[in-house]
Amino acid sequence: YSKERARERHRREELEKINKALELEKSDLEKANKEDPLTGCLNRVGFGRLLVQAQESLIKNGKPMSFIMLDIDHFKEVNDTYGHSVGDEVLVNLSKLVQSRIRNSDALIRWGGEEFVVLCGNTSLQNAQYLAEKLRLNIEKSQLIKQRQVTCSFGVAEMVAGEDSKKLFERADKALYASKEGGRNRVTSATFRKQS
Ligand code: GH3
Ligand code: MG
Ligand code: MG
Repeated sequence: YSKERARERHRREELEKINKALELEKSDLEKANKEDPLTGCLNRVGFGRLLVQAQESLIKNGKPMSFIMLDIDHFKEVNDTYGHSVGDEVLVNLSKLVQSRIRNSDALIRWGGEEFVVLCGNTSLQNAQYLAEKLRLNIEKSQLIKQRQVTCSFGVAEMVAGEDSKKLFERADKALYASKEGGRNRVTSATFRKQS
């Protein structure tokens, strides 16, 4: 009888172990699903949830929310000249730098290849513009890699209550494009014009 009970307990313990392992795996997967493995930044999946929260807080409490898009200048040249691993080093060091300069309530997202977004909660366009300029200067004067100076171009937009998030991205992207066109290593802010 006691042998039977011992076997039963052993089986239960084994099951518990398996369950724990599965739980761990699940949380790892959830994390991997939200994070960019190279830089540890949020990816677009992780960003989606934050955006919904920011939109709610804008609608409910009238808290402004701004969006800074940045793109590394001439990054292809860095890869082509020094190799992909040096390019990766730029990405890692850039995200570390930006992360260290933003608030805990801000979020850094790797938007795609060499493009990042800072989601700034409770931040007006003017303040986001100020932060972007501060980041731009910090990047310009820091040595992300020893081989050469790296700069970024910026586009800034403030979310308008009820605005479709796609429209917000488009406005930030347009502003970023204007920074590139204007000679790179600069900040451009998006204006909002009500569609009639
Ligand atoms: P611009 O100043 O107009 O932004 O020019 P650019 O060269 O930065 O832009 P382009 O879009 O031509 O090139 C982006 C490059 O980024 C090309 C791609 O190979 C590289 N890239 C994207 N993701 C990664 C990555 O994870 N690691 C590395 N090393 N390179 C990447
Ligand atoms: Mg790009
Ligand atoms: Mg680029």
